[in-house]
Amino acid sequence: MEKTVVNDLMNIVGEKWVDTDAERVFSYAKEWTIESYGLVAPEPAEDCVVVKPCEAQEISEIMEYANENSIPVLPKGGNTALSANAIPDEPSIIIVLERMNEKIEIDEQNMTVTCDAGVTLESLLEKLSEHDKLYFPLHPGDEGAQIGGMAIMNAGGVRAVRDGVMRDQIRGLKAVLPTGEIVDFGNRDGKLIKNNAGYDLSHLMIGSEGTLGIVTEVTLDLKPEPPYSATLIIPFEKRNDAFRAVPEILQEGIIPLAIEYVEREQILATAEDLGKEWPATEGAGDLMVILAEDSEEDLFESAAGIENICEEHNSINTLMADTTQEEKELLEIRSHFLPAIEDDVVDCPDITVPRSELGDLMDKLDELSEEYDADMPLMAHAADGNLHAFIMLEDPEVDEIPDYYEELKHDMYQAALDLGGTITGEHGVGALRKKQLKMQYTEREIEIMKSLKQAFDPNNVLSPNRIVDID
Ligand SMILES: Cc1cc2nc3c(=O)[nH]c(=O)nc-3n(C[C@H](O)[C@H](O)[C@H](O)COP(=O)(O)OP(=O)(O)OC[C@H]3O[C@@H](n4cnc5c(N)ncnc54)[C@H](O)[C@@H]3O)c2cc1C
Repeated sequence: MEKTVVNDLMNIVGEKWVDTDAERVFSYAKEWTIESYGLVAPEPAEDCVVVKPCEAQEISEIMEYANENSIPVLPKGGNTALSANAIPDEPSIIIVLERMNEKIEIDEQNMTVTCDAGVTLESLLEKLSEHDKLYFPLHPGDEGAQIGGMAIMNAGGVRAVRDGVMRDQIRGLKAVLPTGEIVDFGNRDGKLIKNNAGYDLSHLMIGSEGTLGIVTEVTLDLKPEPPYSATLIIPFEKRNDAFRAVPEILQEGIIPLAIEYVEREQILATAEDLGKEWPATEGAGDLMVILAEDSEEDLFESAAGIENICEEHNSINTLMADTTQEEKELLEIRSHFLPAIEDDVVDCPDITVPRSELGDLMDKLDELSEEYDADMPLMAHAADGNLHAFIMLEDPEVDEIPDYYEELKHDMYQAALDLGGTITGEHGVGALRKKQLKMQYTEREIEIMKSLKQAFDPNNVLSPNRIVDID
């Protein structure tokens, strides 16, 4: 990066908070995508500069400067993205949000929490654990993710069944536009339950993968904490029996926090990788159901209802963990699924279909696995119809992209689209899925997306050419 740019950035944030050291810059330029899908992820461009602002005003000045001088900018949160969402492909200013991590303000009356964008999920959960009445339900797998990053990625994760994804939790957000203005989109600090004034620009921001603005503050809904919880592990001989039980559980009016599906071989290997034990060993795989209820009676009633439905669908038995420690351990094992295999992963499309179609999608993936002779471990947010199906190295000893990678990926996306689904339910488009976006949307729809990007970012400086290309 040119010396004058570095000096100008130092004038905005102070010398201490501008970094050009190649190794440190690289550690911010890469993301989890590189750790896990190094072969297909793009190489980060050299000559980037890292800037660590401490407030919205500094971000505003950086954006104004970058916009005037046409310098690409990429925001960085916890760096846990999985689709090469913010790996610089040209010399860029990398705005790291980690210093904006102080404010976690709980408003009991309005049942909200307002966080600086750089607060990690881990810090938020820690702060809320001191509070015995209110909690935040969502849990994407890595607690190093920041609240700003989760908002801009519309993260989902394990516990979205009852309460929805990030979009459903956000009451308000503040951001800096690519042209430098600080905005709150009329959200009045997130205190309003209802606001129908004009287009909802904050919801456009949610899920925009850092292309429309830099989030500086987020106000989230909190829920009353249900005092009783338990996690059920329900093994099935046949995978499709497990999937057929899921809609029936929900139709019965039992709405758990989470309904996950894990395959036997992989979940045992994941537990082993952590030096822990998974309680079920028989059958093709398990439903993992996290229940949270207001009374012990309700908890056991829901558990019994689920057990009955699963028995009707040939479950082997029902195992129940009801101490906080046991439950925490099961969630920890489930969350370790990707880290346990990351060395051998090439890519992980997170295709999503209506929950009723998940069994058919998995059958189709089995066919593809056979057709390409490809090992494809998978796990599913079963009640969300959201599947993580991994494309693996052909030979773990040989670091090579399999010849069939592009073709198999295309067929996986097509299978999801044919079943009324989407190419990504969680991880976003990033660099890895940009080409496939055109499989899902019409030309007109893509044109509208481009116009929106141009309206927010006329000089195409913020996360340029992510999601859609601006010619
Ligand atoms: C082991 C593992 C498991 C995961 N499981 C799930 C899961 O179950 N569900 C799920 O949804 N995700 C999951 N993820 C993905 C990831 O945690 C989410 O996408 C997360 O929301 C990203 O947050 P972050 O702070 O790490 O963002 P980063 O990775 O730093 O950035 C992600 C994108 O957001 C942009 N960005 C970051 N912060 C801001 C900001 N303040 N303003 C504007 N743009 C910004 C970046 O430019 C980039 O495009 C998982 C990741 C890992 C590593």
